[in-house]
Amino acid sequence: MDAPTLKDAMCAHIDSISAELIEISHDLHAHPEEKFEEHHAHDRLCDLIEQTGLTVERHAFDLPTAFRARIGSTGPDIAVLLEYDALPGLGHACGHNIIAAAGLGAGLAAAAFAPTAGGRVTMLGSPAEEGGGGKVFMIDRGALEGVDAAMMIHPADADLTTMNAIAYHGLDAVYTGEAAHAAAHPWQGRNALDAAVLGYMNIAALRQHIAPTERIHGIFTDGGERPNIVPARAAMNWYVRAADVASLERLKPRVVAALEAGAAAAGCTVEITWRDPVYADLVDSDPMTRLYVDNARRLGRSVVPPDGDNAVIGSTDMGNVSHVVPSIHPMIAVAPTGIGIHTPEFERHAGSAAGDLAVIDGAKAMAMTIADLWATEGALDEAVEAFRAR
Ligand SMILES: [Zn+2]
Ligand SMILES: [Zn+2]
Repeated sequence: MDAPTLKDAMCAHIDSISAELIEISHDLHAHPEEKFEEHHAHDRLCDLIEQTGLTVERHAFDLPTAFRARIGSTGPDIAVLLEYDALPGLGHACGHNIIAAAGLGAGLAAAAFAPTAGGRVTMLGSPAEEGGGGKVFMIDRGALEGVDAAMMIHPADADLTTMNAIAYHGLDAVYTGEAAHAAAHPWQGRNALDAAVLGYMNIAALRQHIAPTERIHGIFTDGGERPNIVPARAAMNWYVRAADVASLERLKPRVVAALEAGAAAAGCTVEITWRDPVYADLVDSDPMTRLYVDNARRLGRSVVPPDGDNAVIGSTDMGNVSHVVPSIHPMIAVAPTGIGIHTPEFERHAGSAAGDLAVIDGAKAMAMTIADLWATEGALDEAVEAFRAR
């Protein structure tokens, strides 16, 4: 089967299952689950894959809410990543219900034609993108072994070639001092909240002297019990981000020094714990992006590179995938321009008719890109060569 025929057949297949794809998108949207707790999403997606006669490895890679379905026995193996975790208090304000449903559609369409096309597809259910780094554990446990290229789409307020995702590591800082009566014997206390506030201010000063591509942002998670007790404990949670992993590793000690100096000034101690795996920066495959852009254009979507106004700066564990195999992470429009992800407004758009259209178009654009990687002469080779040359 040549690529154009394959694309038409895959798109027709997606149209034939569009009601089920939209239903699963709505169902996940109505049942938001946070990182590593995505049991409903895991079970429903695995059930739907099994109902088509395919085999699924549930609870794959020693992760209760990860899964893998591998289809085909010869030819290039293209992975489609399905995310389905939600945000604390905001539900599916990052629209991962759309990622899962579109990925399912692309995966099932590819699965239906893998044997005749001589290609393989691997659906990877990847938990905990919103903190937790599910894909990093999956990679360490072999999820990308034998995979030639990987892809996913992410909803946004525009059709974009990529997300501009930078490297990330999070930390917890717990300050310990000595409690005392804040009025009767304040001199006997050592104020952990003061220590944390000074650490915060040190970072505020540091932020003037970091690269424009770097970000440091934190919150207080514990600031004491009552005003009349000198706080013996204070805690903060910080995100540290930089353009790539190398510059992130250079920035991290400066953050630690700023936090530790706060403890020293207030006569307290601080314990700093790095949480989650490091999220690597995302490096999209240019040849694969070009294929995706052409395929999305067939669906009436004009996919453009991000500019100053819509350059979504964040981090994703898809970045780690992009350093192992050629990968793409294009953004698909589900909301009007200016409605950013991680907002209550975006959460509503993720369950709207525009979100439903993104499920179907995202599934088709990815399926057609898989068809190119399988059947368009030289397409996969070009992606692999560009990856090696990086
Ligand atoms: Zn998000
Ligand atoms: Zn997201």
